[in-house]
Amino acid sequence: MLKDRYSRTIDYMRISITDRCNLRCIYCMPTEHIPLEFKKILTYEEIVRVVRVAAELGLRKIRLTGGEPLARKNVQHLIREIRKIKGIEDLSMTTNGVLLEKYAREIKDAGLDRVNVSLDSLRPDRYREITQGGDLGKILCGIEKAYQVGLQPLKINMVVVREINDDEIEDFAAITLNRPLQIRFIEFMPGRKNSWSAERCVSIKEIRERIIKRFGTLQPLKTRSNGPARYYRIPEAEGVIGFISPVTHHFCSDCNRLRVTADGRIRPCLFSRTEIDLGTAIRAGATDDELKRLLTLAVEVKPEGHRIGKHGDGSYISRGMSQIGG
Ligand code: SAM
Ligand code: SF4
Repeated sequence: MLKDRYSRTIDYMRISITDRCNLRCIYCMPTEHIPLEFKKILTYEEIVRVVRVAAELGLRKIRLTGGEPLARKNVQHLIREIRKIKGIEDLSMTTNGVLLEKYAREIKDAGLDRVNVSLDSLRPDRYREITQGGDLGKILCGIEKAYQVGLQPLKINMVVVREINDDEIEDFAAITLNRPLQIRFIEFMPGRKNSWSAERCVSIKEIRERIIKRFGTLQPLKTRSNGPARYYRIPEAEGVIGFISPVTHHFCSDCNRLRVTADGRIRPCLFSRTEIDLGTAIRAGATDDELKRLLTLAVEVKPEGHRIGKHGDGSYISRGMSQIGG
C-alpha cells in the first residue's frame, strides 16, 4: 500500500489519455490551445504498463480522462487491457458525453464500471456557447444510454460560473427529485487564461444555500465517499447532490490520488507545479523497479495541501486542464 508523508493512503490514479477534445469549454481550454505532438502522448501499451506497475504498488482505482477520452481511437482496447490487471478494483471515466451514446455499450462490455459526465447547462443555446459548439441533445441521449447499459452510479458534474450558468443551480438540483443520478456542483478553479476571478467563482456555501432556499432542506448522507465530494439529498428525492469545493474549502487531508498527464508526467497534486517524468523514463528503457521508484517518489513529494483561492494568492493551475485531466 502506498502511504505519503501525511499518512494518506494513495490508491487512486487519474490518467489523461489525450489532451485533444471535441469541445472547447470556455473555462478549460484556451482558444489558442496547441495540442501536444502525437509522439509525446503515452501509447496504450505505455499506459497499461504504468497501471500494472502502480497496481503492484497498491493502486486500486483508475479514472480515464483527458481531453476527451472517448475521442481517442479504440479506447475500448485500453479499457479491456486495464481490466485484466490484477488489483484494479474500480475503472471509471470522465467524459463530456459527446460520443457516449455511440460508445456506452462497447465501453461497458470492455469492462468500464462507470462514468462521470460533465454538463454545465440544460439550455441548448447556452450549452453551445459554454462548450463552443456542443449539442446538448446528444449529451442527454448519451447520459440516458450510459444509464441504461449500467455505467452506474452515474454522476453529472456541473462547474458553476457566475453570470454564465449560476442561474441553473436549482434546475440541476431538481433533476435529482425523480432521477437516481448524482448531480455534483464544482467550484470554478483558476487555470491558465481561463478568466477566473474570485467573483466568478460561486462558493459551495452559496450553492448549498440556494438549493436549501428552493427545496427547503438538504439531508447530509452518512456514507462518505473517499473522494472530494460531500453528499446530500433533498428529502424524498431519488438522486443525490454532491458538493466539491477545491477553492473555498480544501479537502487535501483526504486526498488519495495521483494524476498522470497525457505526456506521462505524474502530478502529485493538481495545483502544484511538481511533475515527475515517467514518460521519458519509460522511453529511455526504465525497468519496472525504476518506474516503481518514480511512482513512490511522486507519493513522497505529494504536498500536504495547496493555497489556490487563498486571499491574495494569485496562483493557478499551471498547465491546461485537458493535459492534466481535471
Ligand atoms: N473532457 C472530459 C470532460 O469534460 O468531462 C474530461 C476532461 S475535463 C478536463 C475533466 C473535468 O475537469 C470536467 O468535469 C471539467 O468540467 C473539469 N474542469 C475543467 N476546467 C475546470 C475549471 N477551471 N474548474 C473546475 N473544473 C474544471
Ligand atoms: Fe474538453 Fe472536457 Fe475541457 Fe470541456 S472540460 S474542453 S470537454 S476537456
